Amino acid sequence: MASVPTVVLISQGDEVITGQTLDTNAQWLAERLTELGLSVVRKITVGDRLNDIVDAIRQGTALADVVISTGGLGPTVDDLTAEAAAAVLGGPMRLDEEALAFIEALFARYGRTMNDANRKQAVLPASSTTLMNQWGTAPGFSIEHQGAVAFFVPGVPREMRAFWAHHIQPELVRRLSLTPGRLITFRCMGIPESHLEELMRPFNAIDGAVLGFRTKLPENQVKLRVDPDFPEDRLDALVADIRSTIGKGLFGVNCGPIEEVIGQALTERGETIATAESCTGGQISATLTAIAGSSNYFIEGACVYANAAKVRTCGVSEGTLAAHGAVSEPTAREMAEGIRARAGTTYGLSSTGIAGPGGGSAEKPVGTVHIALATPNGTHHKRLRLGGDRERITRLATGGALDMLRRHLQGLLRT
Ligand code: AMP
Ligand code: MG
Repeated sequence: MASVPTVVLISQGDEVITGQTLDTNAQWLAERLTELGLSVVRKITVGDRLNDIVDAIRQGTALADVVISTGGLGPTVDDLTAEAAAAVLGGPMRLDEEALAFIEALFARYGRTMNDANRKQAVLPASSTTLMNQWGTAPGFSIEHQGAVAFFVPGVPREMRAFWAHHIQPELVRRLSLTPGRLITFRCMGIPESHLEELMRPFNAIDGAVLGFRTKLPENQVKLRVDPDFPEDRLDALVADIRSTIGKGLFGVNCGPIEEVIGQALTERGETIATAESCTGGQISATLTAIAGSSNYFIEGACVYANAAKVRTCGVSEGTLAAHGAVSEPTAREMAEGIRARAGTTYGLSSTGIAGPGGGSAEKPVGTVHIALATPNGTHHKRLRLGGDRERITRLATGGALDMLRRHLQGLLRT
């Protein structure tokens, strides 16, 4: 197999190196590049200092086949990228008339006057190729140096992504023989990452396949990356093997988020849902309704924080609250059943718990959450014991509730 082309990423800017701006550009680009079949071998971050930028470009072009630099193309004096690239090339600068005309037209359209600094953005290294910017003012450019191609694009993430799609990616595909590996994502809920890693241990030593893990609270993912020449039948068998090893915690393979999987299942079945939330404060309904088309199945969401609201809206009995408290299995069940009856839906989903930091007791510590799902054939309940701060607990409780619904829809729960 041909060797994999290498990339060095350069992130520029005082705001990035001082930590005021999180370097999302390098992360985003690295993901795209890896998907495309290139290997990112180094990331360099520099402030707005000419010498540091020159050094970074030299290092990058000496080391890799491709360099992608973001930032430092603005109209201000601290934007020194074009100057630095010209210094690396040891050549003069040129004024790009087309880029200048484009910037002038942009200013004319918005009735703003141009100054020298804006004009400066069209001054690029003489031997560079201009990359026009239809998404902002500063043009980007590319240069060839030491057998490497280096792209220089603006730091504004929206513009950077447009440059990737319209200039960088097509150019890389044109120049290089790329063989993208295949990435299979197993999406899991309700299995801690450590347990998942343990389950996946037998799959660690497979030739041509690499396993990775990623946590996006409340979800855990297993990522399987296989070489381009990995045989298709072996891959099918491997995927099936991993599926059955993960078991019920797996909600999908190469699929959307759990709320999308739930939405598809509800739509297919022609079923509906309503929610009654206490400790999750509306997060369950917000998550479900983030999916386009959720109006087909999401009927109503109640945020019933106070006991009186649980009684008034869900018909939870005063006696249940007095005997067991708001954070209890009977209350969760009555909330789910009550909202289901009130909304006339197929399902009612509820949460009640102690998100903290206050309000815990020895019997019901912070992180105690009860969730219930009322269905036409009975009600499921689960008690969760969650750790962490208020935000983590509510997110995990939301995930737990959604996962109960998902498991029911996938036929994994017994009633
Ligand atoms: P510049 O192209 O240097 O003028 O950058 C313009 C803006 O883009 C900066 O003020 C940041 O808000 C943003 N930006 C620059 N570099 C990055 C980066 N590596 N990741 C995310 N945002 C960035
Ligand atoms: Mg800058």
